[in-house]
Amino acid sequence: MRGRNLKIRLLIGVAIALFFVFKRCSQREENPYTHRMQTISMNANEEIAIGLQSAPQMTQQYGGLHPNNQYQALVDNVGNKLINNSIARETPYKYEFHLLADPNTINAFALPGGQVFITYALFSKLENEDQLAGVLGHEIGHVLGRHSAERIAESEYWQGLATAGSVGADMGGLVSGIGQNTLLTNGRDDELESDDLGVKFMIKAGYQPEEMIGVMEILKASAGPNRLPEFKSTHPDPDNRIEKIQEAIEKYKNL
Ligand SMILES: [Zn+2]
Repeated sequence: MRGRNLKIRLLIGVAIALFFVFKRCSQREENPYTHRMQTISMNANEEIAIGLQSAPQMTQQYGGLHPNNQYQALVDNVGNKLINNSIARETPYKYEFHLLADPNTINAFALPGGQVFITYALFSKLENEDQLAGVLGHEIGHVLGRHSAERIAESEYWQGLATAGSVGADMGGLVSGIGQNTLLTNGRDDELESDDLGVKFMIKAGYQPEEMIGVMEILKASAGPNRLPEFKSTHPDPDNRIEKIQEAIEKYKNL
């Protein structure tokens, strides 16, 4: 009887796994802005809603918004200039740029749908407007590249497979392990794609794309023992990025 039970469990496991594999195939779509094929399980409106929902909590985590209106206005101006001169303008996303008060954590990030953040710690290290454009352009790249939505869909897929695995046999842990690795690998590619898009947006808006390299130097210099683990894990080494950024400048400079 035990052997028969195991067979049935295996069959159910395979059926669940197949369900998630087919579901994933049906979720493959071409990104209309980057033309890259990706797995996405939500539409643009859902991305915007998730971003708006999580924005207050993220803001709070970084000490709220920075009180200086002039600095905030500069961030808005540079962000909007990048959007109005690029394909970002043609997306359904609602872009908003927030300067966070946090004076210690060097970071910038984007939520799905267009909520973009930069901490004062990073803002205050930037040497010119072009570098600010580099940071914001990179974050707009994450939005337009739909990286968060892609990662959500991928993790749903791996969770589904892990469930199938744990029904069929005790493979849940193994499959989850593969899933996590895949997520991290995607993260690195996301960063490189965002750097590439950032350079393109800078050139289109009339900024000096070489200043994106300046941003990398700042990130490198700040990479001391106090560097945040999440920053370290999701961002490839600045030296690798500089090489790719130089390639992107060559590729787009005659746009
Ligand atoms: Zn990034």
